[in-house]
This record gives sequence, structure tokens and C-alpha cells, in this order.
Amino acid sequence: MSVKVEDLIRKEIQAINAYHVPDPGDMIKLDAMENPYHMPEALKDEWLDLIKHAEINRYPDPSAAKLCAVLESYMGVPEKLSSTNNKIILGNGSDELIQILAMAVAKSGSKVMAPEPGFVMYNMIATFVGMDYIGVPLKADFSLDMPAMLSAIKLHQPALIFLAYPNNPTGNLFSDDDIVEIIKASKGLVVVDEAYHPFACESFMPRVGEFDNLLVMRTVSKMGLAGLRLGLLAGAEKWINEFDKIRLPYNINILTQLSAEFAIKHADIFEAQAKIIREQREWLFNELTEFSQFEVYPSRANFILLKVLEGDATKIFEGLKQRGVLIKNSHSAGGVLTQCLRVTVGKPEENAALIDALKTM
Ligand SMILES: *Cc1c(COP(=O)(O)O)cnc(C)c1O
Repeated sequence: MSVKVEDLIRKEIQAINAYHVPDPGDMIKLDAMENPYHMPEALKDEWLDLIKHAEINRYPDPSAAKLCAVLESYMGVPEKLSSTNNKIILGNGSDELIQILAMAVAKSGSKVMAPEPGFVMYNMIATFVGMDYIGVPLKADFSLDMPAMLSAIKLHQPALIFLAYPNNPTGNLFSDDDIVEIIKASKGLVVVDEAYHPFACESFMPRVGEFDNLLVMRTVSKMGLAGLRLGLLAGAEKWINEFDKIRLPYNINILTQLSAEFAIKHADIFEAQAKIIREQREWLFNELTEFSQFEVYPSRANFILLKVLEGDATKIFEGLKQRGVLIKNSHSAGGVLTQCLRVTVGKPEENAALIDALKTM
């Protein structure tokens, strides 16, 4: 007798396609919004020396207190605004924080809402925890459709609203006024997801505490530490204390705690890299706009979305792959992403290789 998947696994889980990450082989990797730079060699040696003394036979500090203090200061988490004490919680990537948030509010009929197109994990994690996901389409210029957002809030009363700032995959910053209006209209929590902060240089972090239901999420992934898996969520103590009950005790391992502390101590190096990436973003934008077959969307992140007006996005994606450049084909997502490609800003020579490859096609 065999036990059937269909009998045991929830239907909505069976229906999901697993999050697929293609194997880049030795291609130029411009698909995943990673920082292409490493630490300088001298710093790497210092870091390895630190790791050498890590007590991996012991459990790590369950509250990661030292790292929390370093991050609160570096990310500018306001200590206290009015009567609210602010706090942070750390996650194994901000993905885990999205999961913790969802688990904390998931109950029969509770909903997650986000603009579409947006970060796919909001939708996926809502499904994992048995919540309904409400996607509200952005306007054609990728700004928030405020009448649609406000009426969806009224209708669905979402427990959680995610606003990626800047948005992935469109790359734009939503208007501050629109975000504030959404925070005020919502009786649930509003999470401003600032994964791309090093490239946007705009933030709601200083306003944590100004609104009772505002949470700000950051990650070290896009600044150059994607391999560490570390994200943070800042908000009023009363919320963070509840989320902390759900967090698995040792979710931030000792190597991550030590390495992130070390990296933040040398944040100037990562900031200098982010500056080069921002400059390269402008270079790449200008080069891509030279192709009359593309509509290129301005970006405040470390990637650029473009629409193929003449020709076929999938053909271009495959053609680039044959020429050793891996980007992201967003076409299959459909809707406004039909015929869209997303390219991560890489090193100058990688970006030049992308442009050269496009010219040969
Ligand atoms: C990449 C990304 C994340 C995930 O960050 P991790 O900390 O690596 O899990 C979160 N939100 C958005 C909008 C992203 O694009």
C-alpha cells in the first residue's frame, strides 16, 4: 500500500511550482540582484581569522544581541518615537521574516495584500501558511493604483500589506504620500520592504514609530552578503515581541552573526561598491535605451527591467545564455511583464559584455 501525495499534501501546496533557481554554470551572472564584488583580499584574511575562532561546537547567541545592536545603529532604527519603543527581529534572510509575519497573523480568512507585479515570496508564503493573497495591479507606469489599493483594503481588510520600496521587479519607488495613505487606511500591518536600500537611498526607517502599524524590513543580501542569509524587521516593540515568540531560537547561525558584525564594521567598503553599482546602473540604462526595440524602465534598485517591443523576450534571453550571459526572463509571469526581461547590474566589464552580446543578436 502506498501513501498518496494527493491524499496528504494540501491542494494549494501541490499546485505551486517550486521556486526555481537556474544553475548559472560559468555564465556571467546578471539574474539574481547579487553584488558582483567580493571583500578585498586583506579584509578577507581578517575575516577568516575571526571565523577561525568561532565556537561552532556551541549554540549561537539565540537573541544575536551584539549583532542586533550593530544593525540597529547602522540601519538607523529610531530608538523611540513618541511613546513607542522600537525593536528589531532578525531572520534567516528577509524571506524568513515574511514567513514569521505571516505565521503570526494567519487565521481563517486573514489576508495578505501586495501590489502586482511584486516580489513572489509574498504570495508564496501566504499560500504556505494558508492565507489568501490579494494582488492589486499597479498602474501602467508602475505607480500604485491608489483607488484600487484603498478599495481592496476596505473590502479585504488585509492583516498584512507588503510594499517593496523600491519594487521588485519594476525597480521604481512608490510615492511616499501614497505609502502613508495606505498605512493610515490599513487596520493591519504595513511592511515597507527595503531590500534595495543601498541603491535607492530613500527610506521609511526614520518613520518607524510614527505610525503604529508600520514595519520596515531590510536585508544584507543585496548589499553584498547574500550568502549569509540575514534580514531584519524594525517596528514597535509590541509587535516585535510577538514575532519573536515564533522565531526559531537559533535562526541566525554563529558564522552569520560573526561575519555580519564584521562586515558592518567595514560598511564603507560595501557602500563604495554600492556607489559603483549605482553609477553602472546609469551607464547600463543609457546603453539599453540605445536599442530602439526595448522600452527600458528607470530603476532605483540594482537591476533594470525592460520590455521587448520588437522581437521576442525569450529568444533574447536564450540568445544571451548562448553567449554566456544569464539574466532573468520575466515573460512567463504574464500580465504587464509579458515580453519583459530583468537584468541585474554587474561589474563594468560584465555590463559591457551584456551590451556587446545584445549587439551581436
Ligand atoms: C531579494 C528580495 C528579498 C529577499 O531578501 P533575502 O534577505 O535574501 O531573503 C526581499 N524582498 C525583496 C523585494 C527582494 O527583492
